[in-house]
Order: sequence, then structure tokens, then C-alpha cells
Amino acid sequence: MLTITGADAIHIDGSTEYAGDLHLSGAVVAAVPVHGETLDATGCVVTPGLVNAHHHLLQTAFRTLPGTRGVPMATWLPTMAAAYTDAGIDPDLCHTAAAAGLAEALLSGVTTVADHHLTWPSGADTVGMAEATVAAARELGARLVFVRGTARDDPQEAALSAEAIAAALVPGRVGGISDDGMLQLAVGPAGVHSDSPETFRLLGEVANRLDLRRRTQANEQVDVAIALEKYGKRPIDLLEEWGWLAPDVTLAHLCDVTDDEIRRLAPSGITATHAPGCDLPMGWGIAPVAALRAAGVVVGLGTSGGGSNDAGHLLADARLAMQVAPLVGPPLSARDVLGLATEGSAAGLGRPELGHLRPGAAADLCVWDVSGVADAGVADPVAGLLWASPGRRPRHVVVAGRVVVRDYQLVSSDERDIVAKLTARVGR
Ligand SMILES: [Zn+2]
Repeated sequence: MLTITGADAIHIDGSTEYAGDLHLSGAVVAAVPVHGETLDATGCVVTPGLVNAHHHLLQTAFRTLPGTRGVPMATWLPTMAAAYTDAGIDPDLCHTAAAAGLAEALLSGVTTVADHHLTWPSGADTVGMAEATVAAARELGARLVFVRGTARDDPQEAALSAEAIAAALVPGRVGGISDDGMLQLAVGPAGVHSDSPETFRLLGEVANRLDLRRRTQANEQVDVAIALEKYGKRPIDLLEEWGWLAPDVTLAHLCDVTDDEIRRLAPSGITATHAPGCDLPMGWGIAPVAALRAAGVVVGLGTSGGGSNDAGHLLADARLAMQVAPLVGPPLSARDVLGLATEGSAAGLGRPELGHLRPGAAADLCVWDVSGVADAGVADPVAGLLWASPGRRPRHVVVAGRVVVRDYQLVSSDERDIVAKLTARVGR
């Protein structure tokens, strides 16, 4: 039992906000007041925990690498691949990088991370790598969606690995979700520019058999260019042919989409992930979020990983999303974008209990102190969360009813130890 007391504003969801208290009953938001421990939220705004719909946690160990910024994809890929080979991708590195990425997530208000793991050296201990990532999440108290991705992997090997990971992590669980909801498994090829129809087909079969969500990346400009060159078709046409335009599929990026494609995407039931913090520096364009939403596509928000976006700070990217929206259509409001970063991302994961604070919701929330000088003069503290104080961190973070960040510090781990381990492992 935990009660958040005296908040200036509690953002329950896109339509309900009030000042006062919020009661938690175990791992869920209570429908009636409960009495137990209290967490003071005076001078604070309370929001649902943010849901990062697109991350590559491994890349946390490879941020700002020389040769990976301001370069074409054809240069970026081999530079990253060489760094991976140098470092040696194994369960230990997966754990160390995920611990840093997930600690950063919690400390910046992200309670759920969808980790698209795309790097699987042939013959690697793939189950061990997945288990190591999951262990990092459990140690910190973060909710994790582990996406067994591929990037030019052997299709058969990838499908067998996905099955083995499912058997190890979420054996027999409906939707690939653990009983406590802290872990979910999904599958996700990097994109049609990278993976073969065979990979999409085999991973689709695994997802269908085990009831897993499917996730991929589409319509970054480079994806469109390679698809046209390789197949003479655009990615959306290929995904449709390959059976990957469906309600269980989430497409990240969608920068270079035509009006006709936007009209076709909504009835297919797919969801989308906007990742401006990656798309802008990579020169991939800006997804027309307002047009996608107007057509009926549910859109979430993701940061992508340290290979393209050096910060896993979703609220900072929410601000960026608002800043760039008017360049490609109507502006997005702060509450629109907060909706992307919470319920929008959760919808793409098939997790209706995440991303809002209505009674019965997962008790994942952030307490943001808005009493400092960076928020002085702010008339609307919820809009101010996104517009004012870039890079802000929450004072407290609760996941499944458990306080995991208290007074800006991780509760169960020492941030400095996590950094020291990563530094020792990769030498930076
Ligand atoms: Zn990505």
C-alpha cells in the first residue's frame, strides 16, 4: 500500500487530471483510498511512468562513437559492427549495457523499455544474452519488453533462438508476458532493408504460435531507398505482401510515408512508434505524426539506441517531438505527446494496463518536482513538464507499486557501480 500525497496535479490520462492524492494497492492503482506508506508529492506533478517503445539497450555501451554521426547508413553499419566485434557481444556485455540503459531510463522517468536487440553474433549464447538483459531489469525494478530482433541473421537460426528464448523467459505465458507483468517477449526484424522475407515469415510464425507481438522498423529514408533498389517496391508494400501489416505489428520511424500509405496503414490496425531523437540526427526525416493520428493510427514514442540517439531520455524526445511537429503538419500539444509516450507506446505493446493511472492500472508512475526555478512562472504544470526544464528527472519513480527511484537515486543499485562496470568492460 502506497499513497502519493498532496500533488499539484495528477495526470491520470489524456482526459483526467486533479490535484491531491493517488492511492496504490500493491502493484495496481487503487479504486478506493488505502492506508499505508506515503510519498510526499507537494510541489510535484504525477504522471504515469513513461513507456519507451523503441530502444536498443546494447548500444548504450557505444554512444558518440567516432564515425557514427553525420554519416550515411552504409558507413554507420560497419562502424557499429566493428565496435561490437571489438567489445565482444556476450551475456556479460548485454547485462552491463542494459543495466546502464535501464538505470538511465528509470532515472529519467521511463518505467517500461522495449529493447530491440538486433545484434546476435552467429553461434552466440542467445538465451544467455536475453537472460542477462532480463536480470538487469529485475535488479533495477524496471519493466522490460525484450524484442528478439534480427539484422541480417540466418532466418532459421533466428527463429530457433526466438523459440529458445521464449521457453527460457516466458514458458507457456499468454502473450509472452510474465505472470507479474514485468517481462514481455516480442520479435522484430530490423527492417525490409536488412532482413529477408524468410526471416519475416519465420519470426511471424514463431510470434503466431507463441502469441507474441511483432515489431519492426520501416520507412526511414534509407529503408525506402534500399527496398526500391532491392525489390522495386516500397517497404509498406513489402510488409503487406509478407503479412506484416496487422494489429499485432508496431512500425518504428515511418518518416518517409506517402499520403496513400498513411491511408492504408490505419485500417491494417498497425501501431507506430515515433523516434525523432534518432530520425533527426540520422537525417531520416520527421514522421508525420499528426497525419498518422488523424488517419487513425495509434502512435507511441521511442528514443532508439545509443548508436543514433545518445540519450535514453524519453521526456527530452517528447519535447523534441513537439518542436519538430510543425515542420511536417499541425503542431502537437504537450498532452498529445505525453499521450504518445504513455498510452500510445503501451497500445503498441498490447498492454492496456500501462501508460495511465485509472483504477486497476499498473502502479507505474513518476513524481516530478516542479517547484524549482526552471518551472517558475509556468501556468500549466503538465504542459510545463514537457516544455520547460529540458532534461528534467523525476524525484521519485514507482514501478508495480514499488519505489525504484527515491529522491533522484536508484533504490536497489548504485548508479556509480553501474557506470564503473560499463567503463571497465568497454574502456570508455
Ligand atoms: Zn531503432
